[in-house]
Amino acid sequence: YMESTVTNQKHPRGLYVLFFTEMWERFSYYGMRAILLLYLIKSAADGALGLPEDTGGAIYGLYTSSVYLLTLPGGWIADNMLGQKKAILWGGIVIMIGHILLAVPGNNAIFFAGLCTVAIGTGLLKPNISSIVGNLYPEGGARRDAGFSIFYIGINLGSFLGMTVVGYLGEKVGWHYGFGAAAIAMFLGVVAFRLNSKHLAGLGEPPEVKGSPTFLYVVAGALVLMATLVLTGFLDAVELANVMGYVIVGITILYFAYIGLLDKSLSVVEKKRVGVLFIFFIGAALFWSGFEQAGSSLTIFADRHTDRIIGGWEMPASWFQTANAFFILVFSAPIGALWIYLNRKKINPYVPVKFGLGLIQMGFGFFIMYWAAQYAVEGIQVGLGWLVFTYLFHTLGELFLSPVGLSTYTKLAPKKYYSQMMGLWFVAASLGNLIAGLFSGNFSEDNVAEMPALFLQVCLFGVGFGILMILFYKPLKNWMGGIE
Ligand code: GLN
Repeated sequence: YMESTVTNQKHPRGLYVLFFTEMWERFSYYGMRAILLLYLIKSAADGALGLPEDTGGAIYGLYTSSVYLLTLPGGWIADNMLGQKKAILWGGIVIMIGHILLAVPGNNAIFFAGLCTVAIGTGLLKPNISSIVGNLYPEGGARRDAGFSIFYIGINLGSFLGMTVVGYLGEKVGWHYGFGAAAIAMFLGVVAFRLNSKHLAGLGEPPEVKGSPTFLYVVAGALVLMATLVLTGFLDAVELANVMGYVIVGITILYFAYIGLLDKSLSVVEKKRVGVLFIFFIGAALFWSGFEQAGSSLTIFADRHTDRIIGGWEMPASWFQTANAFFILVFSAPIGALWIYLNRKKINPYVPVKFGLGLIQMGFGFFIMYWAAQYAVEGIQVGLGWLVFTYLFHTLGELFLSPVGLSTYTKLAPKKYYSQMMGLWFVAASLGNLIAGLFSGNFSEDNVAEMPALFLQVCLFGVGFGILMILFYKPLKNWMGGIE
């Protein structure tokens, strides 16, 4: 009875403002991402760029990875300069400008400038809109969790609609119409936010004391350096993506080593928790490196090896990606109810076990692809069900790992590293996206025979690390030092 009164409680009006703003933003993000790799690698005869798969995959990886990495300066700007509300508004405007640039046909320089612009704007909007959702419920607790679940529905509703509309326009009408639709969606999001932000009075205001912008100079310097290396031809996209991967891994290891081994102000319990955070980081990066192949290798497979003819009409390849959003909408409530039920029975699995099960389900999805790819190698166009079932398992995996992962991550963080650890959770997603892009570079037309082995590799990594986490759940749980 208590639980139902809590969840039936009215939510603040502001939640719905954030819901619709995020819905339109995710419409534009996932809509554009659904066709991005196809636009990069399809031939010039199809009106696309005709890049080789490894270059296309590297660009896809660099873009999606940057989106998550740029949430770090985006969160910093809100905390130290603009406040969350202005950061969301400006982020939305920058994203819209980026999609408008993508919609301009026939100029690669403008196209790549558009990609960079969308990434910067998303870094500004995405972390700050989630943090205002949290601020709507200063008391925390079940009502706050319910608020986040409603917000997650907005994310996936937007994602579903965006992939449907932008995917259809992009593949069937013209790529740039798809990108244009993403711009319109973001425009609607910005207008909705601006007109209704009165419902967010007192939230996400600019800080009283502004921070010193040194951190931003470092970020801007790194971006200028990257751009220079590429524009002078010193690095190509694949090399840049590899360098970025090594830099992310290197900085992460140094960061963990510093906190876990060298910071003398932390207690032994806190240091053990940092060790667990490191293991979770590896698990999360691995999970996303498989999961985020939705827009890369799995869409290549949908395009080339899946029979998409329904009643004489060919379905857009990008539409398969909607399965993830659809299954989230269907399964997030039942899985949430399952945790509550198991909790009441006192048999709710420990966090490392849930994490491991999430990885195993992701890996199992790739086992289905390993199977499907064996038919594809024979030249058979496989049925729609293979990819749909793969996405079903990937989505269940996401529901096991992602919500639990983020909340545990922040709970395990030593107090003074709280926001940095939240940032690190995004760094894991960033690394995963980068690997997902680089890996799909192997899926070229003359490498078709390798496809089953490639999918099997992802399966084994996911299942293997998942099993390890379950086998070692006891020490992991002990090292969590009482945090559930
Ligand atoms: N699909 C979710 C979103 O876009 C989560 C993605 C992630 O954390 N990698 O917000």
